[in-house]
Amino acid sequence: MLCLGIESTAHTFGAGIVDENAEVLGNQIKVYSPPSGGIHPREAANHHCEVAIDTIMAALGEASISLNEIDLIAFSQGPGLGPCLRTGATVARTLALANKKPIIGVNHCIAHLEIGRGTTECTDPVLLYVSGGNTQVIAFANSRYRVFGETLDTGIGNFLDKFAREIGLPFPGGPKIEEIAKKGKELLELPYSVKGMDVSFSGMLTAALALLRKGASTEDLCYSMQEHAFAMLVEVTERAMAHVGKDEVLLGGGVARNRRLQEMVRKMAEERGARMFIPEPDLCVDNGAMIAYLGILMYNSGVRHEISQTNIRQRFRTDEVDVTWR
Ligand code: AMP
Ligand code: MG
Repeated sequence: MLCLGIESTAHTFGAGIVDENAEVLGNQIKVYSPPSGGIHPREAANHHCEVAIDTIMAALGEASISLNEIDLIAFSQGPGLGPCLRTGATVARTLALANKKPIIGVNHCIAHLEIGRGTTECTDPVLLYVSGGNTQVIAFANSRYRVFGETLDTGIGNFLDKFAREIGLPFPGGPKIEEIAKKGKELLELPYSVKGMDVSFSGMLTAALALLRKGASTEDLCYSMQEHAFAMLVEVTERAMAHVGKDEVLLGGGVARNRRLQEMVRKMAEERGARMFIPEPDLCVDNGAMIAYLGILMYNSGVRHEISQTNIRQRFRTDEVDVTWR
């Protein structure tokens, strides 16, 4: 069975083709990069409109198949930015109706977790999902995927991107901060905000910018921000693992590419006799393949969506999904 998955929750438009064994036949993304400032939903949606057809054709080309050979169309139903989600949903509906294919709307956060289960050796992990807009600790408990901790304000990726923007670096800033952080020497004091199981980054951003204005070096600041922010994430992830009694931790989202974060999570896992898993870099960032794979899991467990059920869900919560495939 082959599924075409369409991703458009935020800055990325993605099209991926996957089979029921999570083999990725094609996976193409186009990322909207704002000329200045943060992401504007309407402009990102315009970008997605412009690149949609080419991206889908490129994924089909990479897989060496035609649209006729696709058995199912899946798309990101939420959570995400309204105009961006609407663009992806419209493309998916059009393809499904015009080609008489079934359509399934999937939860973006759960797709990050399922592509990890499908392409790595983990079976029942705690997911540390760290992306631009989202930061959540998710695990399967009492027959649902539940959020054990999350950011109370901005996502970790947006936090890094915002700081990068202030020091004149273009989007995405996370990878550049990782490079600059390697040259940091002194650990500067920054707010460490873990509240119960949740984290918060906006105070750290304000404090880092204040230190920058006082003349702190960007190297030390990047290093110190990473050390503080990642330690907060590791702390809540570890607590979730202890709470639900799981010995696997999975990374997902674009920030999961960060080597320092990987190192800190690996160390925490080893110290508790657990294992860490990281999907391929192209499957960590927002992408269509993970959407396609969750679409197949849902379809094969009996889920069917009428077109009337394919409206977008901007605030689609992870624990609202009835997990029929586990
Ligand atoms: P996503 O929202 O999951 O597509 O991921 C995009 C986010 O990941 C952006 O905020 C990037 O700055 C961030 N990102 C990508 N690579 C890295 C990295 N190596 N270190 C930190 N952040 C990263
Ligand atoms: Mg994501």
